[in-house]
This record gives sequence, structure tokens and C-alpha cells, in this order.
Amino acid sequence: MVKPLIQVDEKGFYGKFGGAYIPEMLHPNIEELRENYESITASQSFQKEFKSLLKDFVGRPTPLYFASRLSEQYQAKIYLKREDLCHTGAHKVNNTVGQIILAKKLGKKRIIAETGAGQHGVATATVCALMGMDCTVYMGELDMARQKPNVERMRILGAKVVPATSGSKTLKDATNEAMRQWINNPVDTHYIIGSVVGPHPYPEMVARFQSVISEEIKWQLKSKEGTENPDIVMACVGGGSNAAGAFYHYYNLDQVRLIAVEAAGLGIHSGKSAATTALGTPGILHGSKTLLMQTEDGQVTEPHSISAGLDYPGIGPVHAHLFDTGRAEFLAVEDEDAMKAGIALSRTEGIIPAIETAHAIHALNMIEYKTDDIIVINLSGRGDKDLDTYIKWGGY
Ligand SMILES: *Cc1c(COP(=O)(O)O)cnc(C)c1O
Repeated sequence: MVKPLIQVDEKGFYGKFGGAYIPEMLHPNIEELRENYESITASQSFQKEFKSLLKDFVGRPTPLYFASRLSEQYQAKIYLKREDLCHTGAHKVNNTVGQIILAKKLGKKRIIAETGAGQHGVATATVCALMGMDCTVYMGELDMARQKPNVERMRILGAKVVPATSGSKTLKDATNEAMRQWINNPVDTHYIIGSVVGPHPYPEMVARFQSVISEEIKWQLKSKEGTENPDIVMACVGGGSNAAGAFYHYYNLDQVRLIAVEAAGLGIHSGKSAATTALGTPGILHGSKTLLMQTEDGQVTEPHSISAGLDYPGIGPVHAHLFDTGRAEFLAVEDEDAMKAGIALSRTEGIIPAIETAHAIHALNMIEYKTDDIIVINLSGRGDKDLDTYIKWGGY
């Protein structure tokens, strides 16, 4: 396993953000994980199984595709890292494969997970089927309605899908419910968190599992362009796992610009947004200190995005740190612009992207760059799951 390229301290802090703010009842689980994950994931047997599954089950390496018509349109060399071609349709499975092997080596029998768009839930249900483990996925009731095909996919794979009915009935509420269940279910359960959020060591562990994305970009770009380093790497950010994976091997290379794209919903200041870095302030969310959208007295603001995967009131602590230090640039894209960008990519390159990813595509219109700059956009997922949303929106 690669060494963390971005400095995280003993307690899991990236600068001011991170840590493990958890109830007493969770201490044994988190401690067990913290004490063991580095040695287990570094072991030869783990690495062998992880690499073999990424190759033959997930289908890695995913292509780094030169998007010629998009490049012509924007007068840049635009490459798409095709995480949409991963088994199950998004980058999420890189992390669930890693965590299921870890869970097995820790002797766990039962898996719980939260999901927003359903991609993480499907990726978790998939690896549970692969390993013969019991699987329960918590999902906001609203998300269950807007991502119905993924709910059925999870059920076909043998997982139980439990609706979260509090708050805005979306990802935040599903995460709350999964955490509650983890507290109630003692030692035999592993919680597979789907993004670089949650208490330490989750953010760091998930970033490492996703770091395979930029590991591949480096050698793929080298063979296509003669350099490992693009000028710009762009990715959408919900919790931030696909961005963390795409940025990972470039953190310490200041000449590579990192651009993170959040969801502005109906507009950053519309009251219906998920633009965390624009609106957020430091606080504790789901076990870590990070930036989150909250009222003055610390109530978490209900977020909104047309894409269920970005509909989250916080970001992972590593991204709060990248924002705080200025290492990454943060942009926010509105629902309508993302939908249009999704259609545009479909017609320019023959790729229907997930609506999450479409936010990153639209951001091409918001940045400055030089002609012929090499821009890598992480194509986090495919649009199959979003067909209903595209149809309802209808503007094509
Ligand atoms: C889940 C998801 C996201 C958002 O999650 P991150 O942890 O920020 O990557 C983005 N795109 C797709 C396709 C997803 O499924």
C-alpha cells in the first residue's frame, strides 16, 4: 500500500480537520480498525487479493480516454479517467473491495453501509455477495425513490435496504442511521463507509483504496503524453472519495492544479445547495471535524442537489484541509448546468455520465487554462442510475 502522501497525524488530523469524535460505545470498533488496518492492508496476502480483485472483478485498470471532440471544443487536451467503466458503474467499488477484504481479515460476519445515489450501496452489496457476507444498507427515503433501480440492484444482490426517514431523508440521514446501528451492533459488524468521511481512520483508509485512480493516471498519461503529470485534475466532490483518489499522487506536486467541484443545487445562496466550502463552517459531522453547512447554533443545514451522490452537507476532512490551505480550488455547479453538461458529454463523446460527474464536466466552463493544457477529469460514474432524473428533467 502506498504511503500517505498528504500528512495526516497520529490522531487522524489533516491540519485543523479530521480526528475521531465518536461516542464511547464506538471506541472498541474504531480502535480495532485503527490498530489493524495499516498492518493488514500492507500485508502481502491483502495486497495480492486486493490487486487480483481490482483487475479481474472490477476490471482495472480503467482507461484514460482522450476525449478528442471535447478537447477540440475547449481547446485543451482533455482526458477522461473512466471510473464509469468499473464493475457496478462507479469508483465506489475500489473502496468496497478493499474494505471487504479487511473486514474478512478482522473476522467480521456482517456488513452495514450507508448510501446516497445507491452506487456505494450497490458496490457494498456486490462485494458482500462475492464474500458471502450478510449486508444491510441504509438509504434515505427520498433517495430510495429517486434511485429506484439501484435499490432493486441491491435487493437482487441479496442485501437488505433500510429506509432512513429523518431529516431530508437523504445521505446525511442514512449515515446517521448506519452509525446508530453500528453502535447497537457489537463486535461482529464492520461499517463500510463510502467516502473519505467519518472518524479516523476512515478518511485516510478510503483515500488510499481510491488512490489507485491517480496511480493509474500517472503511468497512463506517461505513455500517452510523455509526462506523468497533467496541468489540471478535476473531480466532483460529495464526500470527496473520487476526488481524493484522483488527486492522491498529485498532492505534493504543486505544479498540478487540483480542482474540486461541489453541487450548488438551485444556487449557492438559494437555501437549496450542497456547496459546502462556499457555505460551510468548521464543526463535527459523522465523527470528524470538518467544514459543514450549519446554522449559527450548530444545526446541520439540510442540503440539496439534483444528484443524490453530492447531496451532503459536509466534505471529508482532507478536502476541508485542501480548501483551507488553498492547495485545491473549489467550484460549485448548479443543478441545471450539470444536467446540460451531462447531455452535452453524451452527445460529444458518446458517454452518458452520472449527474455527479456532470458537475465536474460543466466546471470546464468556469476555469481558466492555457491552450493545450492537459486536463484530466475523473469520470466518477455512469448515468444509467440517473435515467429517471434525466427523463424527469427532460431538457434534451
Ligand atoms: C458517490 C458518487 C460520487 C460522490 O462521492 P465522492 O465520495 O465525493 O466521490 C460521485 N460520483 C458518483 C458516480 C458517485 O457514485
